[in-house]
Amino acid sequence: MTLTRRKTLCLAGATLAALHPPALWAQAPAARVIASFSILADMAQELAPAGVQVTSLVGPDSDAHVYQPSPADGKRLAQADLVLINGLGFEGWIERMVKVSGYRGPVAVATQGIQPRTGGHHDADPHMWQDLALARRYAGNISAAFAQRWPHRRDEIDRRSAEYVARLDQLDAQVRDWLGAVPRAQRRVITSHDAFGYFGSAYGVDFLAPQAWSTHSEPSAAAVARLIRQIKKDGVRAIFVENISDPRLVERIGREGGVRVGGTLYSDALSKPGGPAATYLQLFEHNARSLAAALQA
Ligand code: ZN
Repeated sequence: MTLTRRKTLCLAGATLAALHPPALWAQAPAARVIASFSILADMAQELAPAGVQVTSLVGPDSDAHVYQPSPADGKRLAQADLVLINGLGFEGWIERMVKVSGYRGPVAVATQGIQPRTGGHHDADPHMWQDLALARRYAGNISAAFAQRWPHRRDEIDRRSAEYVARLDQLDAQVRDWLGAVPRAQRRVITSHDAFGYFGSAYGVDFLAPQAWSTHSEPSAAAVARLIRQIKKDGVRAIFVENISDPRLVERIGREGGVRVGGTLYSDALSKPGGPAATYLQLFEHNARSLAAALQA
């Protein structure tokens, strides 16, 4: 008699626990996060609590510096629960877009509180995701925005953040090993735009580029000629095209300087799904391995 009653009680408890919370979640529409570009969207999807759907405005292999949002993008934005941007002028079109779309929710800035590289006449270099230690700060800012938006899911958000940060740290140690195996004097690379300054200072690689932090303006003939001279004078070991840029200029610089193209670096966007840089961690691993291989050769 007692046994039967206890069994029934347990079953009832189990049924309540198993059915009610998921059923409530299932009825609610998925929460929508919109990130400005693919790399940020991937980080956010890794960090988001279950049921939160993250999409990107600028897609894979696309240049966020010069993106032109469509009316359809504006409609998507208006329906978002949270918007994530890089900041530091990387996606200069976003502020106007938010205003025009009528979106009134929070806009979280992934680079919030991180001290940027500055130099020349530029304000700040926005490409902070190219250093895994700074990606850790991105993760902190994204998770904080999630916790503010969905405070009742804080435990899950904290757990996912800790897991992701552990993966960032592990890859950071590997990248240091791979590049550490290349003599420092050989770590000289040319890319198409100056997107790898943070990578360079974190892992000890000198990057030169005909185009500055943004891709808005065409590189000058003088900058191109200077690079070709530098290849010969400074012994630049490798030259890389970027997935978001026309490869022809860099290929020409390589030809005229007598250096071969070492492959493709993923600078400001992921590859398409199934490609070599379909996630942020894959992107970073691909770039670091490609650099180490080309510089060692
Ligand atoms: Zn860029």
